[in-house]
Amino acid sequence: MENRILGLHHITAIAGKARQNLEFYTNVLGLRLLKKTVNFDDPGTYHLYYGDEVGSAGTIITFFPYEGARLGTAGAGMATHISYTVPEGSLGFWKKRFDDFRISAGEPAEKFGEKYLPFTDPDGLQLELVVPKNGDSRTPWSTQEVPAEVAIRGFHAVTLTLRNIKATAAILTDIFEYQLQEQEGNRYRYITNAVENAAIIDLIEAPDANRGEGGAGTNHHIAFRVKNEEVLMQFRKKVAGSGFNITEKIDRNYFYSLYFREPGGVLFEIATDNPGFGIDEPFDQLGSSLLLPPQYESRRANIEAVLPKLD
Ligand code: ZN
Repeated sequence: MENRILGLHHITAIAGKARQNLEFYTNVLGLRLLKKTVNFDDPGTYHLYYGDEVGSAGTIITFFPYEGARLGTAGAGMATHISYTVPEGSLGFWKKRFDDFRISAGEPAEKFGEKYLPFTDPDGLQLELVVPKNGDSRTPWSTQEVPAEVAIRGFHAVTLTLRNIKATAAILTDIFEYQLQEQEGNRYRYITNAVENAAIIDLIEAPDANRGEGGAGTNHHIAFRVKNEEVLMQFRKKVAGSGFNITEKIDRNYFYSLYFREPGGVLFEIATDNPGFGIDEPFDQLGSSLLLPPQYESRRANIEAVLPKLD
Protein backbone atom coordinates (compact mmCIF):
# COMPACT_ATOMS: atom_id res chain seq x y z
CA MET A 1 0.00 0.00 0.00
CA GLU A 2 2.93 2.29 0.74
CA ASN A 3 3.94 2.55 -2.89
CA ARG A 4 0.48 2.69 -4.46
CA ILE A 5 -1.89 5.38 -5.70
CA LEU A 6 -4.00 6.15 -2.64
CA GLY A 7 -7.19 7.38 -4.30
CA LEU A 8 -7.85 11.07 -4.87
CA HIS A 9 -5.64 13.76 -3.38
CA HIS A 10 -7.45 16.93 -4.50
CA ILE A 11 -9.65 18.28 -7.27
CA THR A 12 -9.16 21.73 -8.80
CA ALA A 13 -11.75 23.79 -10.67
CA ILE A 14 -12.20 27.26 -12.11
CA ALA A 15 -14.56 29.69 -10.41
CA GLY A 16 -15.95 33.16 -11.01
CA LYS A 17 -16.10 35.60 -8.11
CA ALA A 18 -13.80 34.59 -5.23
CA ARG A 19 -16.08 35.86 -2.50
CA GLN A 20 -19.08 33.96 -3.83
CA ASN A 21 -16.95 30.81 -4.07
CA LEU A 22 -15.74 31.22 -0.48
CA GLU A 23 -19.25 31.81 0.83
CA PHE A 24 -20.61 28.72 -0.93
CA TYR A 25 -17.96 26.20 0.07
CA THR A 26 -17.50 27.37 3.66
CA ASN A 27 -20.93 28.63 4.65
CA VAL A 28 -23.37 26.61 2.55
CA LEU A 29 -21.40 23.34 2.34
CA GLY A 30 -19.67 23.77 5.69
CA LEU A 31 -16.15 22.91 4.53
CA ARG A 32 -13.10 24.46 6.13
CA LEU A 33 -11.12 27.13 4.29
CA LEU A 34 -7.71 25.44 4.45
CA LYS A 35 -5.56 27.84 2.58
CA LYS A 36 -5.81 31.27 1.06
CA THR A 37 -2.96 31.64 -1.38
CA VAL A 38 -2.40 32.70 -4.97
CA ASN A 39 -2.18 30.84 -8.25
CA PHE A 40 1.58 30.19 -8.38
CA ASP A 41 1.51 30.65 -12.16
CA ASP A 42 -0.58 33.84 -11.94
CA PRO A 43 -0.14 35.53 -8.54
CA GLY A 44 -2.79 38.18 -9.27
CA THR A 45 -5.49 35.56 -8.68
CA TYR A 46 -6.35 33.53 -5.63
CA HIS A 47 -5.96 29.84 -5.11
CA LEU A 48 -8.48 28.80 -2.46
CA TYR A 49 -8.44 25.38 -0.78
CA TYR A 50 -11.32 23.77 1.14
CA GLY A 51 -11.48 20.48 3.01
CA ASP A 52 -11.55 18.88 6.44
CA GLU A 53 -9.87 20.14 9.61
CA VAL A 54 -6.28 19.41 8.58
CA GLY A 55 -6.61 19.19 4.81
CA SER A 56 -6.56 15.41 4.56
CA ALA A 57 -5.99 14.11 1.06
CA GLY A 58 -9.28 12.98 -0.43
CA THR A 59 -11.19 15.93 1.05
CA ILE A 60 -9.51 18.85 -0.72
CA ILE A 61 -11.22 20.90 -3.41
CA THR A 62 -9.38 23.94 -4.73
CA PHE A 63 -10.36 26.83 -6.99
CA PHE A 64 -8.78 29.42 -9.19
CA PRO A 65 -11.38 32.22 -9.04
CA TYR A 66 -11.39 34.87 -11.79
CA GLU A 67 -13.74 37.78 -11.10
CA GLY A 68 -14.90 38.25 -14.69
CA ALA A 69 -14.57 34.66 -15.79
CA ARG A 70 -16.67 33.41 -18.67
CA LEU A 71 -18.70 30.35 -17.70
CA GLY A 72 -17.36 27.12 -19.14
CA THR A 73 -19.39 24.13 -20.27
CA ALA A 74 -18.84 20.65 -18.89
CA GLY A 75 -18.49 18.02 -21.59
CA ALA A 76 -16.39 15.25 -23.07
CA GLY A 77 -12.73 15.24 -22.10
CA MET A 78 -13.45 16.60 -18.64
CA ALA A 79 -13.99 15.61 -15.06
CA THR A 80 -17.67 16.55 -15.06
CA HIS A 81 -19.06 15.57 -11.63
CA ILE A 82 -17.56 15.60 -8.16
CA SER A 83 -19.21 13.60 -5.43
CA TYR A 84 -18.87 13.89 -1.69
CA THR A 85 -20.05 11.45 0.97
CA VAL A 86 -22.60 12.39 3.60
CA PRO A 87 -24.20 10.27 6.33
CA GLU A 88 -27.29 8.12 5.86
CA GLY A 89 -30.42 10.17 6.49
CA SER A 90 -28.84 13.57 5.77
CA LEU A 91 -30.07 14.19 2.21
CA GLY A 92 -33.29 15.80 3.48
CA PHE A 93 -31.25 18.31 5.49
CA TRP A 94 -29.20 19.13 2.41
CA LYS A 95 -32.18 19.38 0.07
CA LYS A 96 -33.77 21.91 2.41
CA ARG A 97 -30.50 23.79 2.86
CA PHE A 98 -30.06 24.12 -0.90
CA ASP A 99 -33.66 25.39 -1.18
CA ASP A 100 -33.04 27.92 1.61
CA PHE A 101 -29.92 29.25 -0.13
CA ARG A 102 -31.54 29.07 -3.60
CA ILE A 103 -28.93 26.62 -4.76
CA SER A 104 -29.85 24.72 -7.86
CA ALA A 105 -30.35 21.07 -6.85
CA GLY A 106 -32.09 18.09 -8.40
CA GLU A 107 -34.11 15.37 -6.73
CA PRO A 108 -32.46 12.54 -4.82
CA ALA A 109 -31.73 9.63 -7.15
CA GLU A 110 -29.73 6.40 -7.09
CA LYS A 111 -26.78 4.93 -8.95
CA PHE A 112 -24.78 1.80 -8.16
CA GLY A 113 -27.23 1.23 -5.31
CA GLU A 114 -26.31 4.50 -3.59
CA LYS A 115 -28.65 7.44 -2.95
CA TYR A 116 -27.36 10.81 -4.09
CA LEU A 117 -28.45 14.41 -4.41
CA PRO A 118 -27.15 16.37 -7.42
CA PHE A 119 -26.57 20.13 -7.15
CA THR A 120 -24.42 22.85 -8.67
CA ASP A 121 -22.21 25.52 -7.17
CA PRO A 122 -22.84 29.20 -8.05
CA ASP A 123 -20.75 28.88 -11.22
CA GLY A 124 -22.51 25.71 -12.35
CA LEU A 125 -19.89 23.15 -11.25
CA GLN A 126 -21.73 19.82 -10.97
CA LEU A 127 -21.55 18.24 -7.54
CA GLU A 128 -23.28 15.40 -5.74
CA LEU A 129 -23.80 14.32 -2.15
CA VAL A 130 -23.79 10.54 -1.88
CA VAL A 131 -24.72 8.18 0.92
CA PRO A 132 -22.06 5.52 0.36
CA LYS A 133 -22.95 1.83 0.62
CA ASN A 134 -20.15 1.12 3.05
CA GLY A 135 -20.47 4.25 5.17
CA ASP A 136 -17.62 6.68 5.75
CA SER A 137 -15.84 6.87 9.10
CA ARG A 138 -13.83 10.03 8.36
CA THR A 139 -14.26 12.80 10.93
CA PRO A 140 -15.81 15.82 9.23
CA TRP A 141 -15.20 19.52 9.74
CA SER A 142 -18.40 20.87 11.25
CA THR A 143 -19.94 24.28 11.71
CA GLN A 144 -22.87 25.64 13.69
CA GLU A 145 -25.17 25.36 10.68
CA VAL A 146 -23.73 22.10 9.35
CA PRO A 147 -23.15 19.86 12.39
CA ALA A 148 -21.17 16.63 12.31
CA GLU A 149 -24.23 14.37 11.98
CA VAL A 150 -24.95 15.74 8.49
CA ALA A 151 -21.55 17.15 7.48
CA ILE A 152 -19.64 16.28 4.32
CA ARG A 153 -16.95 13.64 5.00
CA GLY A 154 -14.82 14.02 1.90
CA PHE A 155 -14.74 12.84 -1.69
CA HIS A 156 -16.58 9.75 -2.79
CA ALA A 157 -15.84 9.77 -6.52
CA VAL A 158 -15.11 11.89 -9.51
CA THR A 159 -16.78 11.25 -12.86
CA LEU A 160 -14.93 11.70 -16.14
CA THR A 161 -17.02 12.06 -19.29
CA LEU A 162 -15.17 10.68 -22.29
CA ARG A 163 -15.95 9.92 -25.92
CA ASN A 164 -14.13 6.61 -25.53
CA ILE A 165 -13.04 5.27 -22.17
CA LYS A 166 -10.55 2.65 -23.30
CA ALA A 167 -7.23 4.48 -23.01
CA THR A 168 -8.24 6.26 -19.80
CA ALA A 169 -9.45 3.04 -18.22
CA ALA A 170 -6.11 1.43 -19.11
CA ILE A 171 -4.24 4.10 -17.15
CA LEU A 172 -6.48 3.51 -14.16
CA THR A 173 -6.08 -0.25 -14.24
CA ASP A 174 -2.58 -0.79 -15.59
CA ILE A 175 -0.71 2.10 -13.95
CA PHE A 176 -2.85 3.20 -10.99
CA GLU A 177 -4.07 -0.29 -9.95
CA TYR A 178 -7.80 0.49 -10.04
CA GLN A 179 -10.26 -2.26 -10.94
CA LEU A 180 -13.56 -2.19 -12.79
CA GLN A 181 -16.11 -2.76 -10.04
CA GLU A 182 -19.46 -2.27 -11.74
CA GLN A 183 -21.14 -1.02 -14.87
CA GLU A 184 -24.52 0.69 -15.21
CA GLY A 185 -25.38 1.59 -18.80
CA ASN A 186 -22.55 3.72 -20.14
CA ARG A 187 -21.15 4.38 -16.65
CA TYR A 188 -18.16 2.32 -15.52
CA ARG A 189 -17.08 2.39 -11.90
CA TYR A 190 -13.37 1.92 -11.15
CA ILE A 191 -12.14 1.55 -7.60
CA THR A 192 -8.85 1.04 -5.81
CA ASN A 193 -8.54 -1.18 -2.75
CA ALA A 194 -5.52 0.81 -1.54
CA VAL A 195 -7.73 3.13 0.52
CA GLU A 196 -11.21 3.10 2.07
CA ASN A 197 -12.44 6.48 0.83
CA ALA A 198 -12.09 8.76 -2.19
CA ALA A 199 -11.27 5.51 -3.98
CA ILE A 200 -13.67 5.71 -6.95
CA ILE A 201 -13.39 7.04 -10.49
CA ASP A 202 -16.49 6.75 -12.66
CA LEU A 203 -16.02 6.86 -16.41
CA ILE A 204 -18.97 7.78 -18.63
CA GLU A 205 -18.58 6.77 -22.25
CA ALA A 206 -20.42 9.32 -24.39
CA PRO A 207 -19.23 9.05 -28.00
CA ASP A 208 -21.50 11.88 -29.21
CA ALA A 209 -20.99 14.34 -26.33
CA ASN A 210 -19.71 17.81 -27.15
CA ARG A 211 -16.23 18.58 -25.94
CA GLY A 212 -16.19 20.45 -22.65
CA GLU A 213 -15.14 24.09 -22.74
CA GLY A 214 -12.98 25.42 -19.93
CA GLY A 215 -14.18 28.36 -17.86
CA ALA A 216 -15.85 29.09 -14.54
CA GLY A 217 -17.78 26.12 -13.21
CA THR A 218 -15.59 23.52 -14.88
CA ASN A 219 -12.84 21.24 -13.70
CA HIS A 220 -9.19 22.09 -14.22
CA HIS A 221 -7.55 18.86 -13.11
CA ILE A 222 -7.84 15.95 -10.71
CA ALA A 223 -4.98 14.85 -8.50
CA PHE A 224 -4.24 11.32 -7.35
CA ARG A 225 -2.52 10.77 -4.03
CA VAL A 226 0.80 9.14 -3.21
CA LYS A 227 2.55 8.93 0.13
CA ASN A 228 5.78 10.75 -0.63
CA GLU A 229 8.22 11.94 -3.26
CA GLU A 230 9.88 8.57 -3.62
CA VAL A 231 6.59 6.99 -4.71
CA LEU A 232 5.84 10.05 -6.82
CA MET A 233 9.00 9.50 -8.82
CA GLN A 234 8.25 5.78 -9.19
CA PHE A 235 4.99 6.78 -10.83
CA ARG A 236 6.79 9.31 -13.00
CA LYS A 237 8.80 6.44 -14.41
CA LYS A 238 5.73 4.26 -14.96
CA VAL A 239 3.71 7.01 -16.67
CA ALA A 240 6.63 8.11 -18.85
CA GLY A 241 7.39 4.46 -19.61
CA SER A 242 3.84 4.07 -20.96
CA GLY A 243 4.55 6.80 -23.48
CA PHE A 244 2.94 9.84 -21.84
CA ASN A 245 4.51 13.27 -21.51
CA ILE A 246 4.73 13.96 -17.81
CA THR A 247 6.17 17.06 -16.14
CA GLU A 248 9.16 17.18 -13.88
CA LYS A 249 8.44 17.23 -10.14
CA ILE A 250 6.89 20.59 -9.22
CA ASP A 251 6.95 22.07 -5.71
CA ARG A 252 3.40 23.22 -4.85
CA ASN A 253 4.43 24.31 -1.34
CA TYR A 254 1.89 21.99 0.34
CA PHE A 255 2.69 18.96 -1.83
CA TYR A 256 4.92 17.86 -4.69
CA SER A 257 3.29 17.24 -8.04
CA LEU A 258 3.55 15.75 -11.49
CA TYR A 259 1.09 16.44 -14.31
CA PHE A 260 0.18 14.62 -17.49
CA ARG A 261 -2.80 14.77 -19.83
CA GLU A 262 -4.54 11.44 -20.19
CA PRO A 263 -5.65 10.46 -23.72
CA GLY A 264 -9.31 11.23 -23.02
CA GLY A 265 -8.38 14.88 -22.42
CA VAL A 266 -8.40 15.20 -18.63
CA LEU A 267 -5.39 16.70 -16.88
CA PHE A 268 -4.13 14.23 -14.27
CA GLU A 269 -1.87 15.21 -11.41
CA ILE A 270 -0.13 12.98 -8.91
CA ALA A 271 0.49 14.70 -5.57
CA THR A 272 2.22 13.78 -2.31
CA ASP A 273 0.95 13.81 1.27
CA ASN A 274 4.05 15.72 2.33
CA PRO A 275 4.69 18.36 3.49
CA GLY A 276 0.99 19.21 4.06
CA PHE A 277 -0.94 22.33 5.02
CA GLY A 278 0.78 22.91 8.35
CA ILE A 279 3.98 24.00 6.64
CA ASP A 280 3.28 27.74 6.70
CA GLU A 281 0.61 28.25 9.38
CA PRO A 282 -0.58 26.41 12.50
CA PHE A 283 -3.47 23.98 11.97
CA ASP A 284 -5.78 26.02 14.23
CA GLN A 285 -5.28 29.05 11.98
CA LEU A 286 -5.50 27.45 8.54
CA GLY A 287 -6.94 29.81 5.96
CA SER A 288 -6.82 32.87 8.20
CA SER A 289 -4.23 34.89 6.31
CA LEU A 290 -3.02 35.30 2.75
CA LEU A 291 -0.03 33.02 2.29
CA LEU A 292 2.43 33.51 -0.52
CA PRO A 293 5.16 31.17 -1.67
CA PRO A 294 8.66 32.54 -0.97
CA GLN A 295 9.17 33.77 -4.54
CA TYR A 296 6.24 36.21 -4.23
CA GLU A 297 6.74 37.42 -0.66
CA SER A 298 8.64 40.54 -1.79
CA ARG A 299 5.65 41.50 -3.98
CA ARG A 300 3.07 41.02 -1.21
CA ALA A 301 1.80 44.64 -1.15
CA ASN A 302 1.16 44.69 -4.89
CA ILE A 303 -0.46 41.27 -4.87
CA GLU A 304 -2.75 42.17 -1.97
CA ALA A 305 -3.78 45.36 -3.76
CA VAL A 306 -4.85 43.45 -6.87
CA LEU A 307 -6.69 40.55 -5.23
CA PRO A 308 -10.44 41.00 -4.68
CA LYS A 309 -11.60 41.51 -1.11
CA LEU A 310 -13.04 38.41 0.50
CA ASP A 311 -14.98 39.99 3.37
ZN1 ZN B 1 -3.55 20.28 -8.33
